[in-house]
Amino acid sequence: MGLASASRAFCACLLLFTTANLQAQIKVGSFSTVLSEIAQKVGGKNVVVTFIIKPGQDPHEYQLTPGDLGAATASDLVLLSGKGMEGTYLRNLRDALPKQVQVLAVGDDIPSLTKGADEGKDAEKEATQDPHWWNSISETEKATAVVRDALARLDGQHAADYQAGATAYLSLLKELDSWVKRKVAELPRDRRILVTSHDAFQYFAKDYGFQIDSIEGLTTDQEPSVSHVTAIIAEIKKQGVKAIFLENTLNPKVSVEITRESGAKIGGSLYADGLGPGDGETYEGMLRHNVTTIVDALK
Ligand SMILES: [Zn+2]
Repeated sequence: MGLASASRAFCACLLLFTTANLQAQIKVGSFSTVLSEIAQKVGGKNVVVTFIIKPGQDPHEYQLTPGDLGAATASDLVLLSGKGMEGTYLRNLRDALPKQVQVLAVGDDIPSLTKGADEGKDAEKEATQDPHWWNSISETEKATAVVRDALARLDGQHAADYQAGATAYLSLLKELDSWVKRKVAELPRDRRILVTSHDAFQYFAKDYGFQIDSIEGLTTDQEPSVSHVTAIIAEIKKQGVKAIFLENTLNPKVSVEITRESGAKIGGSLYADGLGPGDGETYEGMLRHNVTTIVDALK
């Protein structure tokens, strides 16, 4: 047998083995890169996870494709970010999925921050829920428990495995939180001002004592007004902010203009909307990259 045919035979064998193995596994389709990682860590060998939204994709701009709907339909459990992140395609997705597919909007099961909400009007309150819970480690811990419980309900015979997977992941998150606290402590309180491209870091700011000034709002599809940009420039000058930050999925044009007008420099690029290529391929890598970039640029 030549090398090529030997390797083909090996691949075919591997494929058969994998297919047989998959039949016993719970299939999870995830519309959040962070939830994909959580499902993999909690689910371990009992679960196979499809990253429907992929690292580096802007979840605000995401549109449901027929291929992705197929992947969701083939799943036992579909995970969504929730808190309004899914926007317009959510209804189509829910309508199209067969009844046996469980849909879990994980963010809806953990507490929310809101922005500019008129508390009296429920519709508006809904629209201004901040969906970026994963930028807080404590919210991510709550999401891990939600995923653990969903998997245990779906596949009770492996409940102890899901418990063990979640416990291990939660201890990684606890260590990560300790590291973030130590790193942020390098930055005096009056330097903790975070100017970012869109408003993705409120949950992070709440945990670690930052003030947020974002150029765009909670989504990435609206250009900022001239008066808003002028106000940000004035705030940067007034507070003596040394650096502002770009995002891995967004156009840097307005941010670069702001550095020209304000004298702040570009402090680097952050992973705002979930995992991304490079350092941000894992949740821990994403947090370490963001925190190191922020603290080192503002010191
Ligand atoms: Zn966002």
